[in-house]
Amino acid sequence: MTRIITLIGGKGGAGKTTSAINLAAALTYFGKKAIVVDANLTTPNVSLHLGSPIVPVTLHDVLKGRNHITESVYLHPSGIRVIPSSISLNAIKNVDPEKLEYIMQDLHGLSDFVIIDAAAGLGREALAALKSGEEILIITNPEISAVTDALKTIKLAEELGKKVLGVLVNKTNPKNMDMPPDDIEAMLENKIIGIIPEDRAVKFATARKDTVVSMYPNAAASVAYKRLAAHLSNENYDEPLYQETADKTVLEAMADWVVKFLGLKD
Ligand code: ADP
Ligand code: MG
Repeated sequence: MTRIITLIGGKGGAGKTTSAINLAAALTYFGKKAIVVDANLTTPNVSLHLGSPIVPVTLHDVLKGRNHITESVYLHPSGIRVIPSSISLNAIKNVDPEKLEYIMQDLHGLSDFVIIDAAAGLGREALAALKSGEEILIITNPEISAVTDALKTIKLAEELGKKVLGVLVNKTNPKNMDMPPDDIEAMLENKIIGIIPEDRAVKFATARKDTVVSMYPNAAASVAYKRLAAHLSNENYDEPLYQETADKTVLEAMADWVVKFLGLKD
C-alpha cells in the first residue's frame, strides 16, 4: 500500500522541504521506500536542498504529458527517491498544477510512502499539493504567525475532505519564547505528532546538500525525524542514549546523557 502524504503549512521557511527529505530519509532508515515529490513548481526546492544534478525528466515533463511519472524518479545517495521539479524558467510556462492530483495516482504501488513537499502560502500551487495528498501533515513553527497560517491550511484541508494526520512543530528552541505545545494543539485542534528541535546539524546538512538523518544520524533533529517516521510506519525505535547536538553545550549534552542513562527520562 502506498501512502501519499502532503507536507504543508502556509508559512515559507517553516521547514517543509527540510522535513520532507528528512522524513523520507528516516522512513528509509526503517526499511521503507519513500519518494519525495517537489510540488514547488515555480520555485523548485528539493533539488536545491539535495543538490541533484540536472536531470533529463522532471515533474514538469510529466505534467505536460511528455513522460510517465515513473521516468521522473531519481535515487539520491542518501537512499531517498526524488521527483524533482525543473529549475528552468522555460519549463514553468504552460504547466497546469491541477494535473498533479491525477498523476500522483500513478505512484500507487511503487513506494511505501510518497511525501509531497508543498509550496508556501495557499495559492494555486500549494492548493494543488493539498489536493494531491491523501493524508495531510501540517507543519508549523512554535510562533503565532506560523500557527495562524497552519490553522488556515487545516481549515482548507478539512473543506476538501482531507484526513489531517497531525501537526509537526519544527525549529523548537528551549532558549526562545516558543509557543507551548499545549497552546499549539488547542489552537489547531489537532495533535502534535512530531517535534523537531532547531539544530545546527540541519544547517550543516543543508550546506552539504544532504539529509541530516543520513549525515548526522544521532543529531537531535535526526532522532526526532526518526521518532516521527516510526510513529507513521508503526515501527519501534530504540533511540540512541546520546544525541549529538550542535546547539547544546558539551555539559548540557552530558547532563542529558546521565539523566537518560539513569532512566530518569525517556
Ligand atoms: P520551507 O520549505 O518551509 O520554505 P526549508 O525547509 O527550506 O523551509 O527551511 C528553511 C531554512 O530553515 C533552511 O535554511 C533550513 O536549513 C532551515 N531549517 C529547517 N528546519 C530546521 C531545523 N530543525 N533546525 C535548524 N534549521 C532548520
Ligand atoms: Mg520549501
